[in-house]
Amino acid sequence: MTKVIKNISEWKVIRNSEDLKNKTIGFVPTMGALHKGHASLIERCLKENDISVVSIFVNPTQFNDPDDLRNYPRTFENDFKLLETMNVDYLFYPEYGEIYSDNYRYKIVETDFSKKLCGAFRPGHFEGVLTVVMKLFNIVRPHKAYFGEKDYQQLKLIEGMCKAFFMDIEIVPCPIVRDEDGLALSSRNLLLTDEERKIAVNFPELLKSKKSANQIKEELEKLGFKVDYIEDIEGRRFGAVHIGKVRLIDNVEL
Ligand code: AMP
Repeated sequence: MTKVIKNISEWKVIRNSEDLKNKTIGFVPTMGALHKGHASLIERCLKENDISVVSIFVNPTQFNDPDDLRNYPRTFENDFKLLETMNVDYLFYPEYGEIYSDNYRYKIVETDFSKKLCGAFRPGHFEGVLTVVMKLFNIVRPHKAYFGEKDYQQLKLIEGMCKAFFMDIEIVPCPIVRDEDGLALSSRNLLLTDEERKIAVNFPELLKSKKSANQIKEELEKLGFKVDYIEDIEGRRFGAVHIGKVRLIDNVEL
């Protein structure tokens, strides 16, 4: 049975109880619309910890585009069933006011890498991400937390935040899970039309090709993608594109 926790006060009682004393706590933060990518993080978390906590919170402060926030897929019933089947111990499922009692007056800001790649195209995005992750870490107080390499820039920024603030949490990176045709699984894939889904496969294919970043950008644009960036940084190629109304990101090791 997965226990749903909506209030911080309720979780605090459990977190401080004898039951959890001397147990290792693993944590997987998500925005829901769970797929096999999320499941791979959760599986690893279950394997490596006594107690597993998953959170579902569509964090408004990390959305720079109100339409993106409005349209973000929400599939709570299915998500909950998956967590139950996987034997996750706790689902933390808070409302906005529970997390942002300060009305987002306080923020975590990184001034360098967060301004590049996705940060250059989504103003305020990583402030929202880092702030919510800091809040969730302080609430859940996990020993280990699991993040996907699909959001590689996010992963690196969270690792950096933990180091900068001497946070005693091990960040565990998890490999990207892809569909059979190579498209990285993403909650936003649910929003692609059949036609867009077929075109989408060109994105990972070109990204991992031997072509230069500029060539890839040109070819994607010819195929009808709107390209935010294709950029090589420290042996890794990062990309973000739009197909219709959907924004997709991916990265590959060079
Ligand atoms: P999200 O719900 O999109 O915020 O993602 C929650 C966590 O799942 C993040 O750490 C993501 O990097 C990770 N994740 C999302 N998609 C994938 C994927 N295809 N493979 C591996 N991890 C993923």
